[in-house]
Amino acid sequence: MNKKLALLIATIFFADIGVIACADETKPLYIAKDYGTSGDAEFDAWRKSFSEKAVNVNGKDPSIIESMFDGVTPNITVTNLNNSQPETIKPVWSYINSAVNANRIKIGIEQYPIYKDKLSEISNSTGVPTEVVIAIWGMESAYGAVKGDIDAVRALSTLGYKGRRTALGESELLYIADMLKNGDITREGLRGSWAGAMGHTQFMPSSYINRAIDGDNDGKKDIWNNPIDALASSMNFLKIAGWKANEPWGRLVEVKPDFDYSLADGTYRQISFWRANGIISQNSDFPSDWNVRLLVPAGANGPKFLVGVNFAAIRNYNASDSYALSVALLSDEIKGQSQMPNNWPINDPPLKRNDAIEMQTILTRMGFDIGTIDGAPGAKTKAALQAFQKSRGLVADGYPSIAALNSLRDAIGIAPPQNPQTTPIVYPDPKPEIAKPTAQNADGMPVKMFEAKKN
Ligand code: CA
Repeated sequence: MNKKLALLIATIFFADIGVIACADETKPLYIAKDYGTSGDAEFDAWRKSFSEKAVNVNGKDPSIIESMFDGVTPNITVTNLNNSQPETIKPVWSYINSAVNANRIKIGIEQYPIYKDKLSEISNSTGVPTEVVIAIWGMESAYGAVKGDIDAVRALSTLGYKGRRTALGESELLYIADMLKNGDITREGLRGSWAGAMGHTQFMPSSYINRAIDGDNDGKKDIWNNPIDALASSMNFLKIAGWKANEPWGRLVEVKPDFDYSLADGTYRQISFWRANGIISQNSDFPSDWNVRLLVPAGANGPKFLVGVNFAAIRNYNASDSYALSVALLSDEIKGQSQMPNNWPINDPPLKRNDAIEMQTILTRMGFDIGTIDGAPGAKTKAALQAFQKSRGLVADGYPSIAALNSLRDAIGIAPPQNPQTTPIVYPDPKPEIAKPTAQNADGMPVKMFEAKKN
């Protein structure tokens, strides 16, 4: 008899005894306590099986697991936010204008001198400038005003029991068990956002365990109540994410008229290359060996940035160019070295979801690899669009606008719909299957939805 089957039979047979001993295990198998009902049978079943897995497979302390889940019910607000799919992609300039607003700049400028001295030692050791973590603080919790008051165990359990983030929810709950075991926080103190991010700089439990540090040397890593600990932890987070000392996050640049936008392909190249290939800048403070990529977030008619590894480190916090640009531009404002662009192409917004699906469908039909058709153009869709544009002698900026969609429609001989609201384009073949977006970055952190937060 194999071990799994033996365990299953033993589990069923000895279920009412509470513990069983296995032939080749020294520890008795844990059977979850009776939590009562949450009112949701599916949740109750998940809570029991996850509790047992946490103890039996992941080795967590049963008393801690029980203290976590006692009395917990699913949170419908969390379920709704987890299921929501934005129909419209917010233009980068709308995101930045809302995120880097006058009030957020003003408070950041006030807070900066207060924390600069207190964080100088950690700033020196990590190489992360204080204004960058002040900007993150402003973005994540409005400088501590909106840290979130949802029970993190309840939020992560709601994600963990069903929906599109079950693996994330379960994984983060195991880190919470470690936090409680370490005495980092009390059960009642585990408060945060709907997605389980907590404290002044909104750390996920995994980030807390792996990256939080004690900024004021009082023996605690209190990201909930102590901004110094939260800001120091964010410096440590960015350092681990690859932050390079004495290097700017990026610079606003101009290009010569005949510039080849297909170079904005995500490839990092030396600053000397960019200078030789048509990048112009008023700034002369570039490191001579600066390795950067060209970011053109709103196409050839919008602002252009050279960004390096420090921009990538900020993106590790939240894998979105709009988010990272907001943090970066806010940090410049806080330091008094504004490079806020004022040439956003506000009459040329990015495509809505349905139009983006059409763009991806046409590119796929033309033989370009756009990855998965999801209505949310990412790096692959932009690269495919650039390749198409280049093949047609168009400006190859990869910006998914209506003009770009029309050039694709034109290329395959389809007229734009007369009324886009009511006249969907009919294709001869069945439409490829449309995947749901996975709103989670490579680091396993959920992509935070600022629309859902008070700013
Ligand atoms: Ca501390």
